[in-house]
Amino acid sequence: METPIPNTLSVDQTLELLDKSMTDYQRLKPVPFEEFLAILNAKPSQILRNIFQTFHDMIKTYVVEPEDALSEDSDHLSFTNYDCSRLFVEGSENPFFTDMLFANRFMKQMEYLRHGAQQNRIYIFYGPHGCGKSTFLNNLLKKFEQYANTEEGLRYEIVWRLNIKKLQDKEKSFTVSAFEKLIHYVEKGEENYKPDANEKSFGGPEAEYIEIPCISHDNPFLAIPKDQRRIVLDELIKNDEFKWRLFTEKEYEWVFKEEVCTICSSIYHSLLERLGNPSEVYKMLYARPYYFNRRLGNGISVFNPGDSPLKQNVLSNEMLQNRINSLFQDSNIISYQYSRFAKINNGIYALMDIKSHNIERMVELHNIISEGLHKVEDIEERVDSLFFALMNPEDKRSIRDFPSFEDRIQYIDIPYILDMKTEVKIFINIFGRHIEGGFLPMVLENFARVIICTRIGKKSQALAEWIKDPAKYKNFCDDQLMLLKMELFSGNIPKWLEEDDIKSLDNKMLKKIIAESEIYGKEGLSGRDSIKLFDQFYSKYAKEDRLINMPDLCMFFNKLDDPPKRMIPPGFLESLLRMYDYSVLQQVKESLYYYNEEQIAKDIKNYISAITNDVDTVIKCIFTKEEIHVTEAFLESIENRLLSSNMDKNRRHEIRNDVLKEYTTRTLTHEIMIEGKNITETRLFESLYDRYVHNLKKKVLEPFIENENFRNAIKDFDTEKFKAHDKRIKKDVKFLLTNLSKKFGYTTQGANEACIYVIDNDLANKFK
Ligand SMILES: [Zn+2]
Repeated sequence: METPIPNTLSVDQTLELLDKSMTDYQRLKPVPFEEFLAILNAKPSQILRNIFQTFHDMIKTYVVEPEDALSEDSDHLSFTNYDCSRLFVEGSENPFFTDMLFANRFMKQMEYLRHGAQQNRIYIFYGPHGCGKSTFLNNLLKKFEQYANTEEGLRYEIVWRLNIKKLQDKEKSFTVSAFEKLIHYVEKGEENYKPDANEKSFGGPEAEYIEIPCISHDNPFLAIPKDQRRIVLDELIKNDEFKWRLFTEKEYEWVFKEEVCTICSSIYHSLLERLGNPSEVYKMLYARPYYFNRRLGNGISVFNPGDSPLKQNVLSNEMLQNRINSLFQDSNIISYQYSRFAKINNGIYALMDIKSHNIERMVELHNIISEGLHKVEDIEERVDSLFFALMNPEDKRSIRDFPSFEDRIQYIDIPYILDMKTEVKIFINIFGRHIEGGFLPMVLENFARVIICTRIGKKSQALAEWIKDPAKYKNFCDDQLMLLKMELFSGNIPKWLEEDDIKSLDNKMLKKIIAESEIYGKEGLSGRDSIKLFDQFYSKYAKEDRLINMPDLCMFFNKLDDPPKRMIPPGFLESLLRMYDYSVLQQVKESLYYYNEEQIAKDIKNYISAITNDVDTVIKCIFTKEEIHVTEAFLESIENRLLSSNMDKNRRHEIRNDVLKEYTTRTLTHEIMIEGKNITETRLFESLYDRYVHNLKKKVLEPFIENENFRNAIKDFDTEKFKAHDKRIKKDVKFLLTNLSKKFGYTTQGANEACIYVIDNDLANKFK
């Protein structure tokens, strides 16, 4: 039987809890204009933000910009590895993955956005089918909606509270000054009484005021007449960097130039006429948080091509209009009419695909975007919004007939992913993290490389200019250097590049290469194709007892039918295999070769000490303080590493004499005693050290060449049979397999399979 959940919360407590978490109402509560000015005084840069600035701030909040540039050793390279996962991945049901190229392009546009130079524009995210455009835009809008409704993203909008009693009294007696005094008293009494927004807003006949929200979501500051704004801000905001920017920069022009909407403007003037002075008008002006809600079309409107157009273009609120009319005793003074564009003023308007009804909407935007205005009956309605649209290549012709449109459109390409790491992230997102464990390291990335090779151009002017002789890289790269290009697109500078080529890859060259990439990713295997192929591949080759390897991958793509197979350039798979072979061999090499500086230094120091003493004595090394029994075997063991094994006795003695001579005539007497150098800084030490390292590297792959015992020992690793192998081989094998796991993320099984692959394909000889 199940244990019942202890009933710790009473109903009262539960309601209390709900009350506490119910923050929306609190946040939406209007504040008097006076209080708004106090908030503006405290946080001017947050309060004085238009949609463009707020959107930019949102992006900055969610996108992480790392300190380091593309590569550590060339810090002047201007491509940034933005981390957009908080913006597009975290908390979304359908994550959108950005690669480095797209992220840089996107962030550049977002930077322009803030400066306001590009406001009367429509941003079209343009890309082929299956590139994830709608996921991209949905996630972007969702994050904005979230952000705009937080403390950090909060902005205010105008809401009027027309005091009925005050205005009716005014209406009755226009000039009685004694009466005004009386009202003043009433007013004072009222100030202590904080009306509840829900209870007393427009509605019941006993309401104290009529609440009229600004449909255009205007910033309350704009209610101040234009000619007074500068003076007010100068008073209100302290002299700091922000104030200087506010008064000088183009992005803040709107604060001084923008008119308040026609409804608010007519309310202001009607009130001023009746109340006589502005401070009385401002008492009826409130500020409330601009609440974004996509589902209600508040601040964000999104249209799908199938959404049928509204019959009514001009909207009104009859009940509110009647109340306004009866209050002002004049039916035409304030006309509460607006279009649906008003609701997204200072907000976002988005079209999902320029098809069907969205073509009409796009055309409708034409005037609005070029004029920044929209006519509602006789009234001009201002529309300052962020316009987004998605477009497929074939839909470009829909707006072809509007040539004046073209310079109002800012295209931002969303091509297919061009970075294999991002492509892999997509596989993992769809099929689950466990798929990684089914592959030998690097093989999954290579699957992504094959997908990406169908999306990028084969010829490259910039690469030809950069690398004059591609043939020298034939062991690591295809002859068109597509694999090299892919590395750069992922932000890597491959280790196999020669020093000169790395040096000549300056920012200018990199920009040229990236500029070429602008046309890539519009053809080839789509995101959907890629996922389908991966599904086929994985279900066919994933096995319990062995990992997916490169021969599997080559087999899969070689057997593939057209059209996907036709998209893979001839020779690409062979090059990919060669690059893999080279890389896996490097990993094995690095795992076998134990480059332990400390150990090497200790060996050399002990060797020098031993040489200066007689054989068969026990000494204490003057450098390491270690006790050494100087024997022939001891000297040989280090010499084998220093020089080479199988040296004859004479050669050994020759070397020992050389070392002794150098030590006594130069190292000790001159470098150490006169120059005060440490043993490790002496010429003798340095030359022995270099020889030691050189030999280690040269000999590292010896066990991999025609050594059946070594192969068997690897195969037997982790079994009973392993015990029977030679002691030294066992030590090497264990060392190798452990390092492969530690340094390159292999599982024991994976390390084992990779080593057998290297031996069976004789890779040690292949890359000699
Ligand atoms: Zn307004």
